[in-house]
Amino acid sequence: MLSGLTPCPGLFYTTPAQDGTLSRLRIPGGILDSQQCRAIADIVDQYGGGYVDVTNRANIQIREIDGKLSTAVLKYLQDMGLGSRNTAVDHIRNIMTSPTAGIDPQEVIDTRPFVQSWNDYIEAHPALSGLSAKFSVCFDGGGIVRVSDRLNDIAFVAVLVDGKVYFRLHLSVGVKGKPPVATGILLSPEQCLPVLAALANVYLNHIDTNSRRKARLREVVNDLGCESYLQEVDKSLPFALFTTEDQVMEGQFSNLFVESSDNQYQHIGIHPQRQKGLFYIGVVLPLGRLESRQIMGLADLAQRYGSGTLRLTPWQNLLLTDIPQTRLADVQKEITFLGLDYSANNIKSGLVACSGSRGCAAAATDTKGHALALAKYLETRLTLDCPVNIHFSGCEKSCAQHSKSDITLLGVSNGKRSSYHIYIGNGDSNQKFGRELYQYVSFDELPALVEQMLKVYQIKRINVNESFGEFANQYALAQLKQFFSPNTAFHQERITASPLA
Ligand code: SF4
Repeated sequence: MLSGLTPCPGLFYTTPAQDGTLSRLRIPGGILDSQQCRAIADIVDQYGGGYVDVTNRANIQIREIDGKLSTAVLKYLQDMGLGSRNTAVDHIRNIMTSPTAGIDPQEVIDTRPFVQSWNDYIEAHPALSGLSAKFSVCFDGGGIVRVSDRLNDIAFVAVLVDGKVYFRLHLSVGVKGKPPVATGILLSPEQCLPVLAALANVYLNHIDTNSRRKARLREVVNDLGCESYLQEVDKSLPFALFTTEDQVMEGQFSNLFVESSDNQYQHIGIHPQRQKGLFYIGVVLPLGRLESRQIMGLADLAQRYGSGTLRLTPWQNLLLTDIPQTRLADVQKEITFLGLDYSANNIKSGLVACSGSRGCAAAATDTKGHALALAKYLETRLTLDCPVNIHFSGCEKSCAQHSKSDITLLGVSNGKRSSYHIYIGNGDSNQKFGRELYQYVSFDELPALVEQMLKVYQIKRINVNESFGEFANQYALAQLKQFFSPNTAFHQERITASPLA
């Protein structure tokens, strides 16, 4: 086992953690079949903590492994399609796609074949083992559930142009922590794989592949300049990259710039598929965690009522797909019986936490324990009618969620006492977590404060489609503090402060 060669865990590159060895299964596109689920449940029962964590790249993490997995177990997982056939590329970031690929009623194209092709390409080209473990690729099919705003080095975003399918090429450029931006290049579906291979080769030509800390694609693009980087890519291709900007200026591509939705949790609950009479159910996983008995139960449900697959999402929950309308009630009942939920109103649907002090030496706080305690407190005091994304992070690294959230609770320690800084909404590009609203809030004070914040939001928002972040963005910090003050009797007086222009 190649332990310790990379800071990112994989199946063959395990990482020590506070609670034992951590192993990560790379699940391209997040799609698992029932047999694979059962294999995972067996492995975590025998060698891990009896549960898995779904990550923000739709990977699976096995924690609390005592020592390391034996060669026989690794081989078994490989044979089950749960580890790369080529161990040298197993550490490369999981390939992301919309969890509703192929079933989304509005998608432009099913992206699953692109995920499979790039995965096969990586495994067949050992030279790609020189890529940074963080080299990340995403395919967005242009449907209702979008992944183009997730953090990736490269994104292919499907659009319809005059009735034909293209992919817009997005690249990571500029400052850290931003989603990839459109390059103005439009590709036909057949061009995506050769362009992706060329993008990877140009990157490899400009980094020290033997370095322990390899440059990120963003850094190489920033150094070379986006145009020069793309010129090098262009030169290595048997076709010319098709730049769209001129045509856009002439109005030929009026339907090109489709914005993605702000609602990241719209896949939770019951939704019709593009296949008539079939539905998918978005299941809430509390903090991305699934116990082995729940994995077994869901695998069983998928086999009995659906097409035998589960789809993990980058929002750390999962979808059960291809359920006939007549069986929905049965599946709902059985999900509840497994101790899980499928309601977007569940406070846990938008609740995210890193492993925190129970699993990570860098954590200032017990993020997972605090997040569950907060959910328990809020569940009996208010009812959400849309998900609110609350992110607990044990330190600035922000492993569980790289994008901004409605409310971020950042664990901090002053040496004697641990507490949280609270951030809200978007803020500017220098504010990693949004605008800082409070500092050093102890966990004892936190539940009542978050309750007040959510209740004020429910009273003050324009309508149910306005997210907590959008609501908060409209007000100065002083106004928000006044709204959220325990002395503000939000249910007695209507708050009259006017939003900022
Ligand atoms: S965010 Fe920080 S505390 Fe949390 S798991 Fe990552 S490194 Fe550890």
